[in-house]
Amino acid sequence: MQSIEKARDDFPMLKKTMHGKPLVYLDTAATAQKPQVVIDAINDFYEKRYGTVHRAVYELAVHSTHEYQEVRKKIAAFLHATKTEEIIFTRGTTESINLVAYSFGKAFIKLGDEVIISEIEHHSNIVPWQMMCEDRGAKLRIIPVNDNGVLKIEEYAKLLNSKTKLVSIGHISNSIGTQNPVKEMIAMAHKVGAKVLVDGAQAAPHLAVDVQDLDADFYVFSGHKLYGPTGIGILYGKESLLDAIPPYQGGGDMIESVSFDKTSYNVLPLKFEAGTPMIAEVIGLGAAIDYVNQLGLENIHAWEHELLVYATEQLKTIPEVHIIGTAPKKGAIISFKVDGVHPLDIGTMLDLRGIAMRTGHHCAQPTMKRFGVEATARASFGLYNNTEDVDRFIAALKQVIKLLK
Ligand code: PMP
Repeated sequence: MQSIEKARDDFPMLKKTMHGKPLVYLDTAATAQKPQVVIDAINDFYEKRYGTVHRAVYELAVHSTHEYQEVRKKIAAFLHATKTEEIIFTRGTTESINLVAYSFGKAFIKLGDEVIISEIEHHSNIVPWQMMCEDRGAKLRIIPVNDNGVLKIEEYAKLLNSKTKLVSIGHISNSIGTQNPVKEMIAMAHKVGAKVLVDGAQAAPHLAVDVQDLDADFYVFSGHKLYGPTGIGILYGKESLLDAIPPYQGGGDMIESVSFDKTSYNVLPLKFEAGTPMIAEVIGLGAAIDYVNQLGLENIHAWEHELLVYATEQLKTIPEVHIIGTAPKKGAIISFKVDGVHPLDIGTMLDLRGIAMRTGHHCAQPTMKRFGVEATARASFGLYNNTEDVDRFIAALKQVIKLLK
């Protein structure tokens, strides 16, 4: 087994320089860099084995279909799903959530029903529910957070009632890092008969997920944050639920038979996969899953947690810095503001020193509003970061604060 300390060498982008400085990549929460094995898997597929899936008897198509289905099996094992049919390929977390909002909404949400989300969701886990609630005449209810960015579970308990049909909750907040107690929240929702979607965009790449243990009804994530390609995401859904909701899009692959009088739909998972799918992206995601599995998610989590603790301690030594999001359980994401300095200026000045770090609202404007800021600077870590990255980041940040104040 390869050690995490050496994993950084697998990422060609991390050997680059930025403005003549070694690149310190601290924006994995936005998107992760790719290991060579993922890049090679995609290139090899296009160069040596490329063909469509599902549609033809010739050798190339048969092989492509087999490879494509093997990745579905890998994802099922990765999430501990009971069946391969419970894994739907989408374009990403955003599309997965929109799919559920549309299809679940159409099947199960009626006038006066309620959907619950939290105050610290990504826009992708807010807007689809707003659209669906508007369409169905349902009400969106919001779980508040305390000043540390921890969900107020007692308020959540009060929001749950017989009108609640769905709860959609982030596993880890992309803007402030809070890890939510999703298992407990799912059990609470199930007691009132509500279903639960977990937005795992920030969790699946960083901690082991077992959808059966969580008893999640839907679990979604994006390939590009898991060291895989863009344009590919996952929707896990319990078979009985996926069977009970209508297709999201119509087209090739999702049908059993078509006539102008009546079209019948394909079985799972193809019912939700209209059109020629993202074949090379699926193959690339398969390589990313193999890569992460070989390092071990427990090891990845422990490594990133060490970086989180170390970077947090270092940031706390800078008097002008205030961390936003101080939950006891966090993913390796640190949002902060600096007295008297706009986060955008920090981002720009850090970039000149080789530090790639996100500044802005992180697609979480309600979270920013809750903490009384328009934007934050955010450092987020992946398996390839190390304490040297943290040291470079802190030294550069100290310089920048001195210059800007
Ligand atoms: N939810 C969370 C928590 C996220 O961090 C992100 C990406 N920043 C998304 C949803 C949306 O993911 P994507 O843009 O890959 O669809």
